[in-house]
Amino acid sequence: MGFDRTTTPSRFFFSVPTLPAEEQLIVKELFNYFYEVVFHRKEGPSINGHSCEATRDQFSSAYYQANGGLTHVCPICLHRKSNAIKENDLEHYFPKAVYPPLILHPSNLIFICRDCNETYKGVCDALQGGKKPLDRVFRPYRDTVKERAEVAFRREANTDWVKLLAADGIADEQERIENFDLQYKLEKRWSSDIAGIFEQIRTLCAGWGLPKEETRKKLREKCEDLQALSGFPDKFVESAYMKWLCETMFDAFYDNL
Ligand SMILES: [Zn+2]
Repeated sequence: MGFDRTTTPSRFFFSVPTLPAEEQLIVKELFNYFYEVVFHRKEGPSINGHSCEATRDQFSSAYYQANGGLTHVCPICLHRKSNAIKENDLEHYFPKAVYPPLILHPSNLIFICRDCNETYKGVCDALQGGKKPLDRVFRPYRDTVKERAEVAFRREANTDWVKLLAADGIADEQERIENFDLQYKLEKRWSSDIAGIFEQIRTLCAGWGLPKEETRKKLREKCEDLQALSGFPDKFVESAYMKWLCETMFDAFYDNL
């Protein structure tokens, strides 16, 4: 099934609400059986005497092996999470209740943190039952926020706020990112993170006890070090924020040390 290349709703065959009720039930039960029972068995099904690697544990191991060092970080919110597989939720990006045929499609299964899955995403359907074309939604299994979005900041009433912008400035991409933010509330969550990040940077710079220009130079070096850590996606917001403080807000920042 090549669903991730389908761009028009009319070619997106996996939403079942348009089927007669009895047929919907059959489709849901069939795919649910494979997910709830077969996928969660200790061993994969045997075909022609060969055991298939098709269990949740095998899927998890393959995912974590393929993603190497990124296993500590939730691919949605980029928050650092435990590496214990059981503590991460296997998320159906397109909800299984609406798209049963995608219930075991590897492109629809992503390991995300519990906050993203339960507190924010819930059963939200980015495609609105197949009404939206696939190319109008952000697909986290294919496009990561870190690569597709740019974090911008603004200060209002002594509080700094995050805004997500399309990295390439394209309007369609901006719409995709805004829809994604409606699901996961990243701007709000990252805005509340940066108060703590600010305090860490402020304490660090105050500890140096250096004159203004030396502090600026040292902070800029620190910022470049952080930006070079591309293998640590959880540093994405921190390094963008440090850069903004360094290049745009430095005078006000230094005066408050
Ligand atoms: Zn998360």
